[in-house]
Amino acid sequence: MNTNAFALRHIGPREDDQKLMLETLGLDSLDQLIYETIPDDIRLKSPLNLDEPMTEHEYLLHIHDLSKLNKARKTYIGLGYHPTVMPAVIQRNILENPGWYTAYTPYQAEIAQGRLEALLNFQTMVTDLTGMEIANASLLDESTAAAEAMSLLFAVREREQKKAGINKFFVSNRILPQTLSLLETRANPIGIDLVVGEETSFDFSSEFFGAILQYPGKNGQITDIETFISQANIANIKVAVAADILSLVKLESPGKFGADVVVGTTQRFGIPMGYGGPHAAYFATKEKYKRDIPGRIIGVTKDANGDRALRMALQTREQHIKRDKATSNICTAQVLLAVMASMYVVYHGPQGLKFIANKVHNKAVTLANALEKLGYLQVNTSYFDTLQIKTKAKKIKRIATEKKVNLYYPDKNTVSVSINETTSVRDINYLISIFAEAAEKETIIISSIEPQNQIEDSLHRTTDFLTETVFNTYHSETELMRYIKRLERKDLALNHSMISLGSCTMKLNAASEMLPLSWFKWGNIHPFAPLKQAKGYLTILKELEDQLTEITGFAATSLQPNSGAQGEFAGLMVIKAYHESRNEHHRNICLIPSSAHGTNPASAVMAGMKVVVTKSTEEGNIDVNDLREKAELHKDNLAALMVTYPSTHGVYESAIKEITKIVHDNGGQVYMDGANMNAQVGLTNPGHIGADVCHLNLHKTFAIPHGGGGPGVGPICVAKQLVPFLPGNPVVKTGGDQAITAISAAPFGSALACLISYGYIKMLGAEGLTESTKMAILNANYIKQRLQGSFDTLYSGERGRAAHEMIVDCRPFKANGIEVTDIAKRLMDYGFHAPTVSFPVAGTLMIEPTESESKAEIDRFCDAMISIKQEIDNASKDDSNNVLKNAPHTLAMITSNDWDLPYSREKAAFPLDYVKENKFWPSVRRVDDAYGDRNLICTCAPIEEYA
Ligand SMILES: *Cc1c(COP(=O)(O)O)cnc(C)c1O
Repeated sequence: MNTNAFALRHIGPREDDQKLMLETLGLDSLDQLIYETIPDDIRLKSPLNLDEPMTEHEYLLHIHDLSKLNKARKTYIGLGYHPTVMPAVIQRNILENPGWYTAYTPYQAEIAQGRLEALLNFQTMVTDLTGMEIANASLLDESTAAAEAMSLLFAVREREQKKAGINKFFVSNRILPQTLSLLETRANPIGIDLVVGEETSFDFSSEFFGAILQYPGKNGQITDIETFISQANIANIKVAVAADILSLVKLESPGKFGADVVVGTTQRFGIPMGYGGPHAAYFATKEKYKRDIPGRIIGVTKDANGDRALRMALQTREQHIKRDKATSNICTAQVLLAVMASMYVVYHGPQGLKFIANKVHNKAVTLANALEKLGYLQVNTSYFDTLQIKTKAKKIKRIATEKKVNLYYPDKNTVSVSINETTSVRDINYLISIFAEAAEKETIIISSIEPQNQIEDSLHRTTDFLTETVFNTYHSETELMRYIKRLERKDLALNHSMISLGSCTMKLNAASEMLPLSWFKWGNIHPFAPLKQAKGYLTILKELEDQLTEITGFAATSLQPNSGAQGEFAGLMVIKAYHESRNEHHRNICLIPSSAHGTNPASAVMAGMKVVVTKSTEEGNIDVNDLREKAELHKDNLAALMVTYPSTHGVYESAIKEITKIVHDNGGQVYMDGANMNAQVGLTNPGHIGADVCHLNLHKTFAIPHGGGGPGVGPICVAKQLVPFLPGNPVVKTGGDQAITAISAAPFGSALACLISYGYIKMLGAEGLTESTKMAILNANYIKQRLQGSFDTLYSGERGRAAHEMIVDCRPFKANGIEVTDIAKRLMDYGFHAPTVSFPVAGTLMIEPTESESKAEIDRFCDAMISIKQEIDNASKDDSNNVLKNAPHTLAMITSNDWDLPYSREKAAFPLDYVKENKFWPSVRRVDDAYGDRNLICTCAPIEEYA
């Protein structure tokens, strides 16, 4: 046995453990279990066709070699992506720290106060810089954020402007090309009519519900957004502004001018370009739109003691609850990147940001002056960091390329240069020399950069920002390191204990998969750099596409979508394009089983489809008769079925092939939600069961860490007939030959994060991947067996087995006054994060251990659950002063001089022996959600304001 095989590191249970676990299940072999679990007719007959696995050491050498194919050139392309300096203290303590990157979305607030605080800082930074009242805790990228701004204004137009039926939205021709493409993608299906034009000649008397401007414009010119916004206000037209966050340090905030929504990216706050992502976008708006905001909002509330505590606010807006009426389909966002950007701002503070922004601006002006001296015409009159030079682009391009410098060439007669945080005086001189050579003149040498100004007076920032203590305290490395640690200690992540969240697949995120993300040659590639400079990326992205195509049994893959939900939307748009290509524009009915994830109906609505819900049977399966009836009823207009497999109930439905056939027979395409792919890899696949397209959550099945709620990568894999429609990009050619417009800003989405999944597949190989699936199923069935007698499993397959996850019923405990939430909170006292609460069935827990958890850890979890069951048995409806209702218990409670609870401190905090070895203390008592929603505060204003 190769004891260095990565599979042995990735998979938890050792060989002896596996035997014991199988014995517990009354089985002789793993194959017997798989036979009893997965219906025969959907099993694959041959192994996956993938390369032989590499050891971790081999992989690191391999990925290092590939990195050398990337050329990290000096890059001044701009267009929403800029070289930046990631402070080493943030790289080491957050990006490279599993305490941060393996955490889950902070639904269990009591054990997530650290990242909630970092996200509150992010929101505060955004509201301060944009001058808006409220911000969310990140979106996927600037272009999707812009599309969300448009959707918000469209959704509220009747309520806010009495403009029901008005569907025209103006887009400034200065908008970034990728944003324009995304606006098109999102406008068409919901009936928005985009009008692109010159903002200075916009006719305010015509019937528009909204407009979007770019500040500064894509070519660097700063336009007079103040006048535009005030005229729009008079004309009852709402305005969104896509703003460069660093420029806002010097420019007056769009909020001050009356903008309704401000969006952008925070990439230049210390996040590597990473060939396009992941980066956190921001979204800020007015208080009155708080219930219309997409994505997560962090809010302040109080805990059971009345102490300040944070949690996610206003969740009733979200798809989990609102489904097809949700404000957006955003589920996974970009939490880790938002945390990093917020720490960049905490580290630099307002003084540091001013220093950086001034430096950038002064260098841009210095360069412009030198170029003018050389006789060049620089046409931007008011700018922050980007110059536009009118000259023969071809000549400059030849010299710049020779000198290994990337500039941007918008057209034959224009060269664009965008200065950034990393640009040095030497770089400026080098740039000047390129232009001097082209002009055949002696170069001009700059020795220092003087303060200068090329921003119109009326647009200079006059409002203060980042005055809060947190932005003015941690400016030495020691202080920031400790601040980051202080927050980290409040959060339970995978480096503490198992997080068995059903449907979320919280498996190992191996260090060797993560290491290359810190490497310069992967971080410093601009998404619009010449392809020749990105050969390392193109190699792994192509191979990852091929790997995923093979694993799903399809014909091609697009890596563009930045989350599962975006994948759903992308897949449905591809289906729509396919129907339209066959002149079947009318097909718009989307069948969705009642047990589907909330993102499914939300995505269908975004794609302009009409949701028809189909029933589930008592066993938790799709009600095939109901499905057939509805498919036949709508056969003339059927567009798609969205189906999760194995079902969200944790069952491999044996009727799946019949189901896909019914849909095809009635003219529809089958969309498979691939969140449960961890139960399929190597054993079956969506192509095999008759689906046409599926998304994968690489941040679930393929080892990208959850990052506290993102990044995500949600590629779509498609059957042959859908390949031509895979999404494109307006700058870099990608996607099918009849590509739909962009789904994400960058051509390959979050390319940097894709390295992780590539490494995962490369190191496991066909056998390791298949073994992982089997072990995920073994671990789940072992838990099911161990919990028998304490908790009932709601649904099982025909032979009594669970898939890779199971739902346990907690509704009967209501008789003792115990709700599922009480169990979730009590698990914290035992050192565990709760499984998924109340999805897909209210009042239940969905447990998914994954293959990475060892038998020892699973046993501790089961011991905790069984012990909690005994506590439930001892609880009574008439007395809520019990250990479950009071959970979680904090250190302050336990060590307080007063203790008048009817159980011991030991029982409260150390209910089982193992807890003594590895105690995790929740930092606040149970948080009050209702209070927080009623008294919404979502910035870190001074403490006195909460009184
Ligand atoms: C996680 C999940 C999604 C959404 O994926 P995101 O990446 O969070 O957008 C969709 N469907 C199911 C079943 C899921 O579990």
